[in-house]
Amino acid sequence: MATTDHVDVLIVGAGLSGVGAACHLIRNCPEKTYAVLEARGTIGGTWDLFRYPGVRSDSDMFTLGYSFKPWTNPKAIADGDAIRSYVRETAREYGVTDHIRFHHRVVRADWDSATARWTVTAHRADSGEDVTLTCDFLFTCSGYYRYDEGYTPPLPGVERFAGRIVHPQHWPEDLDHSGARVVVIGSGATAVTLVPAMAEQADHVTMLQRSPTYVMALPSRDVVADALRRVLPEKAVYPVVRWKNVLLATANFQLSRRAPAVVKRLLRRAARGRLPVGYDVDRHFSPRYDPWDQRLCVVPDGDLFTAITRGRASIVTDTIDTFTETGIRLRSGAELEADVVVTATGLNLLAFGGMTLHVDGTEVDLADTVAYKGMMLSGVPNFAMTIGYTNASWTLKADLVATYVCRLLRHLDRAGQQIVTPLPPPGGELHPIIDLSAGYVLRSLDALPKQGARAPWRLHQNYTRDVLLMRHGRLTDEGVRFSRAGAPERSTVRA
Ligand SMILES: Cc1cc2nc3c(=O)[nH]c(=O)nc-3n(C[C@H](O)[C@H](O)[C@H](O)COP(=O)(O)OP(=O)(O)OC[C@H]3O[C@@H](n4cnc5c(N)ncnc54)[C@H](O)[C@@H]3O)c2cc1C
Repeated sequence: MATTDHVDVLIVGAGLSGVGAACHLIRNCPEKTYAVLEARGTIGGTWDLFRYPGVRSDSDMFTLGYSFKPWTNPKAIADGDAIRSYVRETAREYGVTDHIRFHHRVVRADWDSATARWTVTAHRADSGEDVTLTCDFLFTCSGYYRYDEGYTPPLPGVERFAGRIVHPQHWPEDLDHSGARVVVIGSGATAVTLVPAMAEQADHVTMLQRSPTYVMALPSRDVVADALRRVLPEKAVYPVVRWKNVLLATANFQLSRRAPAVVKRLLRRAARGRLPVGYDVDRHFSPRYDPWDQRLCVVPDGDLFTAITRGRASIVTDTIDTFTETGIRLRSGAELEADVVVTATGLNLLAFGGMTLHVDGTEVDLADTVAYKGMMLSGVPNFAMTIGYTNASWTLKADLVATYVCRLLRHLDRAGQQIVTPLPPPGGELHPIIDLSAGYVLRSLDALPKQGARAPWRLHQNYTRDVLLMRHGRLTDEGVRFSRAGAPERSTVRA
């Protein structure tokens, strides 16, 4: 074991959130020392890992970008490499890069109430050794899914298939799909991105979905931003367009919740208008669930609809009976011939990048904890986590979490306290922390923290409300206790 060193704040993960968290710390608590531990050898997280054709955001960069760094690229829905460059540039600008320790995968963190410190153990992928660091505050920005393996459901008969099978999370650099017959299995954000992108060179791309998803076309450029940029500097344009997009997205979400039938009709009509006459919109684009029960898929400039209209791509809504030597046989009896099959079947959720938390010698069972303001856990002192919105851009929430952590750190210093411990709600119902019915969420809900029925344990998934709560709301409330080093943390996990 190497020697232990100490920082005030230890950030886990150098993706969009971890780099943002470090910048917030530098801006708001410049006296604090910090380090970022990153499992991989590079910055960017999601936006570095995913390399499939066409990889892009599906929310606009005015809200997926940081509050403190204007997004100046003309494309509002941006390519993966532009987002990666933006995160790297931000890290460079703020001097964060020099504070990142790469190839350090955090495997466990031990809180000790007697010293009010975390001891964090990381495994070094480069040297194979385990190293420990101590910190006063542990801030996880480790995303929400497994990096080493995407989700693939059982694929009957797959061993017979003579073609190539790839998962979007592990895109092979040598895969040449030009002239190939491609089947993309899935109907989520990744599938709707891949299909038009691969259709540019493939012979034909078929999107094979068990059931449809809501798909909405949005312009890849923001016309309001383009107009404002002609007369105003970027610094002024950015917050205006950011708020415009926040309010539009909130209105869209609220309308979907209050009048789902209306939104369903609008989405159906919009899809029909972009597809060939006679196209079976109901079969392929009308899900059984309501809009926003699962994330809505955005297609920039309607590229998916265009690929279908041009005959370069098609959608088949059916179930796999079995793979054959040459493709896939469907329950309907139809056969899809394929040279390449892409399993755009999702992610495996993973909390805190797989690290375990221990408080005064007892391992924390996440399923027994309740989230406080969606960013801390009951019974776990001096700890924060970044989990973005499910109905809006991730960074909107990540920025607020980092802002709140900085406020808490300043409050602890001012009040002469060292420890902040969230408490569980005194009673009332508990709910799953994520309110989406997507398969990858449902598969993991049992192992995740819960949320309470009311503030400060309830997640509102509403940015405007969270701005009031987290930028301006009280730091001392019934959901949290401040203290100094000394007594072991008594169990604050609700029975
Ligand atoms: C293909 C794809 C497209 C997406 N598009 C959008 C979108 O358009 N809009 C949106 O809002 N969201 C989108 N998301 C969600 C997306 O993950 C977030 O937008 C954002 O990138 C999350 O950033 P993050 O830094 O929190 O997590 P990540 O990007 O996952 O980064 C986490 C980092 O932590 C590191 N790490 C993890 N565990 C450990 C550990 N134990 N020790 C050390 N380091 C660790 C990882 O190596 C990684 O670098 C998308 C997700 C995917 C997969």
